[in-house]
Amino acid sequence: MEALISKLNFKYHISGIVQGVGFRPFIYQLAAKYMLKGYVGNDGDGVILQIEGERNSITAFKRDIELLKPPLSRIDFIQEEQKELVGFKDFSIIESNESTISTMLSPDISTCRECLQELTNSKNRRYNYPFINCTNCGPRYTIIENLPYDREKTSMKKFFMCTECRMEYENPLDRRYHAEPISCYNCGPELVFQTFNGKVDKKQAVLSTVKYIEQGLCVAVKGIGGFHLVCDATNEKAVSTLRRNKHRPTKPLAVMFKNITDIKKVCSLTKKDQELILSKERPIVIVSKKRNHDLADSIAPNIDKIGVFLPYTPLHEILLRTLNSPIVATSANLSDEPIIGNALEIFKKIPLMIDAILTHDRKILNACDDSVMLNTKYETIMLRMARGYAPQSFYLKEKTSKKILALGAHQKSTITLALGNNMIISPHIGDLSSIEAFEYYTRTLDTLKRVYNFEPDVIVCDKHPKYETTKWAKQYVQEHSGVELIELQHHYAHALSCMAEYSLDEEVLAFCFDGTGYGDDGKLWGGEVFVASAYHYTRVYHFKELPLLGGDKAVREPKRVALSLLYECFTLEEILSMECEILKFYSIDEVKLLHKMFKRSINSPKSSSLGRLFDGVYALSGHMNDLGYEGESGAILETISKKSKTKATYKYSLKDGVIDYKMMICQILQDSNKEIIAKKFIFTISKIIIEISKEHPNIPVVLSGGVFQNNVLVSQVTKELKKLGRRYYIQSKTPVNDGGISLGQAYYAVKKYR
Ligand SMILES: [Zn+2]
Ligand SMILES: [Zn+2]
Repeated sequence: MEALISKLNFKYHISGIVQGVGFRPFIYQLAAKYMLKGYVGNDGDGVILQIEGERNSITAFKRDIELLKPPLSRIDFIQEEQKELVGFKDFSIIESNESTISTMLSPDISTCRECLQELTNSKNRRYNYPFINCTNCGPRYTIIENLPYDREKTSMKKFFMCTECRMEYENPLDRRYHAEPISCYNCGPELVFQTFNGKVDKKQAVLSTVKYIEQGLCVAVKGIGGFHLVCDATNEKAVSTLRRNKHRPTKPLAVMFKNITDIKKVCSLTKKDQELILSKERPIVIVSKKRNHDLADSIAPNIDKIGVFLPYTPLHEILLRTLNSPIVATSANLSDEPIIGNALEIFKKIPLMIDAILTHDRKILNACDDSVMLNTKYETIMLRMARGYAPQSFYLKEKTSKKILALGAHQKSTITLALGNNMIISPHIGDLSSIEAFEYYTRTLDTLKRVYNFEPDVIVCDKHPKYETTKWAKQYVQEHSGVELIELQHHYAHALSCMAEYSLDEEVLAFCFDGTGYGDDGKLWGGEVFVASAYHYTRVYHFKELPLLGGDKAVREPKRVALSLLYECFTLEEILSMECEILKFYSIDEVKLLHKMFKRSINSPKSSSLGRLFDGVYALSGHMNDLGYEGESGAILETISKKSKTKATYKYSLKDGVIDYKMMICQILQDSNKEIIAKKFIFTISKIIIEISKEHPNIPVVLSGGVFQNNVLVSQVTKELKKLGRRYYIQSKTPVNDGGISLGQAYYAVKKYR
């Protein structure tokens, strides 16, 4: 009787990412540790549990939940309620049923340490098994057809679990308890190596692959979210052939290494770089290349950076251990099309690119690219959010009253859903310029709608009338009466994406610098400064508008932007008598003709884009090439700027809301050293940000948009902001580029309908 009186009973509701991540067995084991009785189960938006025991045990139990929670879980909120004593006899795990579906989907995670140990232990029954995984690692999003996350609703359903696997799967004390993709040699998927002349190899699939790679050939290898094109990263001929076949002249290729020691041989890593490379998400990390390295030069031409990563599936692990050199591992696709997820498509679409294929029979239901990250002096910046990070959810303290669907931008597109207490952002989908890409986009949308049982009340899209997503949205609301449409300005959505990531609900000074987006006045914006909140914005500054000669042509040819800059600053007579390298590429007649276009605004849309100003300065400082990929000018200016020690800046003026760079252009023409120009230009942009920030001393600073992928710029700006003691925000969990737009769009609607 006495013992019963000293006992207490508590009920907890835990929300967050707590399903499909080993949370129930974790609670089960914790309850055993503290001799607590009761139960744990899943419910609609989390885990529910009730326990009975001594006060001290309950306190320790509660502390351990936060402290020792499973690696893939995330706790957003714990609700506690004291209850009457029940007199539980034991502690049990309650099975979930259909009505208790959680809204949380977890991303795919790299092979954990325990699984790696088994993989390399010749006595283990999964020794060298290319599909080893457990509750803490392995595929998730890419194999899910529907929720609740259960084997029957994944692409593992066709594999019948053997007795040994089933025993592990059903034992709450086993580390594979309810690991849905569990399998082994006896019951799981199988590797196949195939060449084009019909040779098929199952027994020696990895060895055959290795032989091909070592011979300088290219193999398509099935990863977790799609195929990689793989070749020897130290073989110049192999890499340049791959580039040629992929129609990708200069955009850097990622390299996968066996281990961190091998990366250090060719790259200089900071402590933060190492941590990120080794993290369970295993992203591609952009790091500094050493001067002396044995990698093929064409991997990242003209820049001092390189994207590196480590094996993240058991198959990669085995492959890299067998190979003698690192491999180029780039998404299997044609230039900017989406990553290819099935073998048939590889044979259909890109047969000429590859010599063989290493595949298996576990289907990829949802394709997912590799994530890309970058460390600046103080901040970690996300360039592409995909495997390991997405789908990602953001917890909302206040529930949204509507189901919101945000469609993102046209490039680097993502989709965000907002429902209940969560905003869920999809993995990177990519540029929507091709039919294939838009099909992939709608497939992703269908998956999210199906999995979350979601039909929108509100749709948010970009203001650009020609974006595929805008057209789709307009048609959708026509066909579905009662669904509201919000068209949101692109750069405001950039500001909001950063505010969403940090749950900001106050006025901010937002610098939204990128390539281009559709402005409120129908012009192309891209160098915008707003005083903004989650409800409204005022454009307080923008870069001086510049006509883009020939529209889209100017985006690929920096020389055209440079010419426009000259027209902006000088008379035609002055230009014709100038000694400027750009003018060597145009005849006098062309210079006159383009000047007419400039003056009369013929096929020359006006743009305030800072991205284009980077292009213009790139060409003015002597780089005459057309661009091989978006952002190339910025990447090269960044690289060469590091060679200059100068801290000097150029002149500019801030007047009537316009950032005028005329004086800077004149000064640039006086400087002859490319490295000095690059450094002074980037430092000038930083100085402009700081000066405008000083005009608005009492609100935090927000930095968003693709221009903030520039390491030198971000490092300098944040250093100066810190010196001033300013509070500032830059995204690190979501892409700072257009990949973050959908989150910003959703945040606006969430605030509107809270
Ligand atoms: Zn594992
Ligand atoms: Zn088995």
